[in-house]
Amino acid sequence: MAEENRLNPQYVVLPEGASRVLGRDALRTNIAIGVAVANIIKTTLGPKGMDKMLISDLGDIIITNDGATILNEMNLEHPVAKILVEIAKTQDKEVGDGTTSVVVIAGNLLKEAGDLIEKGVHPINIIAGYKLATARALEVLKDLTNKISIEDTDKLVKVGMVTLASKNIGDDKVKERLVKEVISAIKQVMEKVDNKIIVDKDRIKLEKKVGGSIEDTKYINGIVIDKEVAHPNMPKRIENAKIALLDYALEIKKTEAEERIEITSPDQIKKFLEQEQEMLKEMADKLKEVGANVVFTQKGIDDVAQHFLAKYGIMAVRRVKKSDMEALARATGGKIVTTIDDLSKNDLGFAGLVEERKIGNEAMVFVEKCKDPKSVSILIRASSQQALDEAERALTDLIGALTALVEDRGDGYSGYVYGGGATYLEIARKLEEYAKEIPGKEQLAVKAYANALKSIAATLAENSGADSVSLLVELENKHTQKNGAVYGVDVANSSIGNMSEIGVIEPARVVRQVLISAGEAVVIILRIDDMISAKGTKSSSSNPSENPEPE
Ligand code: ADP
Ligand code: MG
Repeated sequence: MAEENRLNPQYVVLPEGASRVLGRDALRTNIAIGVAVANIIKTTLGPKGMDKMLISDLGDIIITNDGATILNEMNLEHPVAKILVEIAKTQDKEVGDGTTSVVVIAGNLLKEAGDLIEKGVHPINIIAGYKLATARALEVLKDLTNKISIEDTDKLVKVGMVTLASKNIGDDKVKERLVKEVISAIKQVMEKVDNKIIVDKDRIKLEKKVGGSIEDTKYINGIVIDKEVAHPNMPKRIENAKIALLDYALEIKKTEAEERIEITSPDQIKKFLEQEQEMLKEMADKLKEVGANVVFTQKGIDDVAQHFLAKYGIMAVRRVKKSDMEALARATGGKIVTTIDDLSKNDLGFAGLVEERKIGNEAMVFVEKCKDPKSVSILIRASSQQALDEAERALTDLIGALTALVEDRGDGYSGYVYGGGATYLEIARKLEEYAKEIPGKEQLAVKAYANALKSIAATLAENSGADSVSLLVELENKHTQKNGAVYGVDVANSSIGNMSEIGVIEPARVVRQVLISAGEAVVIILRIDDMISAKGTKSSSSNPSENPEPE
């Protein structure tokens, strides 16, 4: 029974009691789990991939196509499953896109390894072969990378559209507009260092509010703050804003000493309060004096201070997040000041317009028309929380992919390659040639690695409803012909297609990260030959109700 369960991937993914699994058994189990996890998410790959609906313990519902999100929300318990979750997360963090692909490839590398182990190849040989294959694959990928210019909007849009192809966030018209807005955002925040393009993704702030529709999603050449103006009597709209940024409370600090002041007469109370009022007024005076007409502070603002600010016609927003303050500083050119006494005219930032607007039922403050802002925002709208979250994930992928595409890290992977599985197939073909140079059992491992790379085209074909076996044969034949490297799966037509002609291109850096992460994870998993689980000793098949013995 236990033996059976161990080989049943559906079963072993679930938490179980203490156990120890050794040698080949450990490997078999781990491989089965890796393959099972890949099988779960492979149906989401590509534009015809399906979405998954995930329901948490608390009943929250997530509907998504995003590999990293699916794996994360599944709360997989087994360490091998956790490794795969990790690589999907790394993929997400490093390049934003390719989270499903990395797990599909890792799963297939494990499956191929399993077949070799059954044939008597030692895991050490497989690991060595996989390492050789990864290194060569990365070289081939570099050769296949086509350079791109940030001004080549047409190609940038194509890459963006491929990234959004599998996302259920509206029709192509909507998607194209989103892609163009993200391109504007990237162009705005990118920097040229030594003629190389550097993009800090964190400088594109995603802000979301339920309501409206995805079509209302908007790029803002500045910052949106999810806060309202502090006092109803303050102005809601200020043109030519001179902005003070404070990490300072416009309040009276109650020190311990002050709390111990003994007040013995009503006169003293009055004097004390007057003193406080005066100090708060001085803060407002100072802001007026330096010429600020807008104030953002990370801390609080006392009612009295609010009153004076309103009287001076100054708009103030309090309890702004630290990250938002930093974004405001980059967008407006202002400096965050920690003591109001130090504030000077030179510290003020500038924006053509600061305005509080009602978005849905809530007020948000828009800081717009900044001069060459180095931080910008995208305000995402959608009719439900689920749709909003999926739109955010899609935009995160999009920003990641386009950044990966245009960023020049000087390593030869800046640019695009052909999608639809074409690049993986071409790398596989080159690896099969390379395998002939490798002696011994490692040759088998290099071939197995090449086979695993074919899983992307095979899965895209399968998910498009095509006969994946014959389509793959057809594709491999194409690849042996002149200029055949551009052939991949035309998902829309369930056939093979010229990816250059149908415009299916993707960042080389996404593929690079897939190869690196999948390779590393599989090597880690194949090295394990002893699994000791420290979780209690309760047999997983025992049911407490069948066991009347008190614990
Ligand atoms: P991932 O999480 O790995 O990015 P996706 O579901 O986004 O997974 O699918 C990405 C894959 O789909 C890539 O291999 C990409 O080349 C492919 N793809 C996207 N659009 C098309 C298309 N129109 N035709 C063929 N392949 C496509
Ligand atoms: Mg994708």
